[in-house]
Amino acid sequence: MKHNTGVDSTPGACFTSRIVQEKLARLGITNEFDLLLHLPLRYEDETHLYPINDLPENKTAQVEGVIIHSEVMYRPRRQLVCQVEDGSGILFMRFLNFYGSQAKAYAPGARVRLLGEVRPGFFGAEMVHPKCRIVHEGEPLADALTPVYPATAGLSSETIRKLVRRTLQRLAASGKRQSTLAETLPDTILRHYRLQDFSDSVIFLHQPLPDASAALLQERTHPAWRRIKFDELLAQQLSMRLHYRQRRSHSASALLNKNKLTNALLESLPFKLTSGQEKAFAEISRDLAASYPMQRLLQGDVGCGKTIVAALAVLQAIENDCQAALMAPTEILAEQHHQKLSGWLGPLLAPLGVTIARLSGNQKKKQREAALADIAEGRAMLVIGTHALFQEQVEFNRLGLAIIDEQHRFGVHQRLALRMKGAKTDSVPHQLMMSATPIPRTLSMSYYADLDMSVITELPPGRTEVLTKLVADTRRDEVTARIQEACRAGKQAYWVCPLIEESDALQLKTALETYETLGLTFRELKIGLVHGRLSAQEKSAVMESFKQGEIQLLVATTVIEVGVDVPNASLMVIEHAERMGLSQLHQLRGRVGRGAEASICILLYQKPLSAAAQERLKIIFEHNDGFEIARQDLRLRGPGEFLGARQSGIPMLRFADLEYDGDLLDNARTAAEELLRDHPEAANRHLQRWLGRKSEYLRV
Ligand code: ADP
Ligand code: MG
Repeated sequence: MKHNTGVDSTPGACFTSRIVQEKLARLGITNEFDLLLHLPLRYEDETHLYPINDLPENKTAQVEGVIIHSEVMYRPRRQLVCQVEDGSGILFMRFLNFYGSQAKAYAPGARVRLLGEVRPGFFGAEMVHPKCRIVHEGEPLADALTPVYPATAGLSSETIRKLVRRTLQRLAASGKRQSTLAETLPDTILRHYRLQDFSDSVIFLHQPLPDASAALLQERTHPAWRRIKFDELLAQQLSMRLHYRQRRSHSASALLNKNKLTNALLESLPFKLTSGQEKAFAEISRDLAASYPMQRLLQGDVGCGKTIVAALAVLQAIENDCQAALMAPTEILAEQHHQKLSGWLGPLLAPLGVTIARLSGNQKKKQREAALADIAEGRAMLVIGTHALFQEQVEFNRLGLAIIDEQHRFGVHQRLALRMKGAKTDSVPHQLMMSATPIPRTLSMSYYADLDMSVITELPPGRTEVLTKLVADTRRDEVTARIQEACRAGKQAYWVCPLIEESDALQLKTALETYETLGLTFRELKIGLVHGRLSAQEKSAVMESFKQGEIQLLVATTVIEVGVDVPNASLMVIEHAERMGLSQLHQLRGRVGRGAEASICILLYQKPLSAAAQERLKIIFEHNDGFEIARQDLRLRGPGEFLGARQSGIPMLRFADLEYDGDLLDNARTAAEELLRDHPEAANRHLQRWLGRKSEYLRV
């Protein structure tokens, strides 16, 4: 074996050429540690040979034999077909892409070793595109599993394997192993969480011992894998908790609950809070009273009543003479919040001589200027709007509380911008975020570990479960008839037009067409149309007349997805439901079932359905509980997609799998607290190793 080629003069350099270095960089590998953490995707078992007549099915296996026939065939397309014989039987191997040199080498008489999955083929048992190489008789077998690495163009798994081997050899020889793979964690932690040594684990995963369990390696449950995953989760927990602590080190106005305005609101409501709402408000109220900023996420299913909890928090701020801001992701939702909160809080605020301001994208200049002045001079104590709220011209007088509804729609930076709005004084506003739907436990424990959580688990009493129906688009006429009948009987319905992701214009066109067609069918009914291109005023006018019952059928694009609350609407048709994501469907469906009326949601779908679409529709059909739907959604889409905007700036997990590694996550969480408390220098070392530059996230 050739030893290092003398290029490791730069510390950490282990790569022979610039070209290789560039290719490695494409895999995110820029130093020795990155390379060593480029762990195998899977392993191949080349430690023994199977006789051809005894090959296991659906499993990758190795055989060795002599080629007895070889032919380039042209039917149905150009392919190289060889017959391999090993004394026990004959196996066909077939290559659809091959080089001329391969066709030559795989000639009768050549002895080959094949690794692949055997399947019944046209001619008999066959392997398609096996890994194949020419061997001499008696060539020794591998003595341990062969790692297979994620590769990139021009950099094969084989090359990476060699680079890793060389790096490990050099580390062992030069004693550098101590520095690159040095243990970051103190013994007490290692013992308590039964963790295997770090460098042993890394080495083992690259070069498993002959007796290693293939199953444990493959499933990534081997103690070596668990050590790597634990370390990764630990780094994530450490960074999140440091982030949390850092924000907590700022000061905020202590907003005490004086129980005057909040009690007055509670007394004026036509309903009693659910115990989940009470508990959530108690947690928020306690946080607000502290002199450091609250950073809390309120989550709960669609319709569980998060808005009223936010309203109570707003009043607690106002009682302490501080302003509150409420930010919503869409104009429709901002407008609805404005109406709802004006109704609830208006009568309480009027005697105090303060108002609620509304900022929107397409306000008239004069109106906007008046609102801005009210905000700057403190006459408006609550401000409601979309992200227009954190534009530069908006200056708060004394912002004490920032509430962000449907937080998943906003990126980390937009939320921070709103928080910084309070920075006129030294203190930062308290921050309350609200989710649209529940967040699965493992996800909130990992990616949301920088926030405190309040969870509302029940819906207000008296809700009837929405009945969901899946209907093929071919039965559209029946659906139309049914809606017509229901609307005639005084019910109200939404007709949701398909999501067309590629083009807003196309989506608009579809909405307009649907509106016209339904208008022709339902001549005697009043139909409304709402879509993203309408101005804020136009949108709110339509929503208002739907709310007032003047419109019976509302044709809408997915702009109504979030937050819209019209309790009398009890029917919903969603067109091309197969195109929508689970949380979107659940959100949309959550627009009905808000009143006492039994509600129905009809999901129209068009065949053929992809397997994924079929699975989504099945889940939404079978489940009404947002917690369960969120779990399934996470399973189907993975954390990256699920997190949406939030993920920007947050390092994603590479090794740990939230679905299977919940126990490691629990351990990492407690270990992070222990480390920060008892071994801050180890915590720091660990973070540096895992996040390095990425730990900049901590500073925001
Ligand atoms: P979400 O949590 O989805 O934002 P909302 O705050 O829009 O839900 O509340 C949904 C509906 O339930 C609203 O009409 C609201 O007034 C009503 N509501 C909230 N809390 C209660 C309660 N405790 N009892 C009855 N109705 C409630
Ligand atoms: Mg809401």
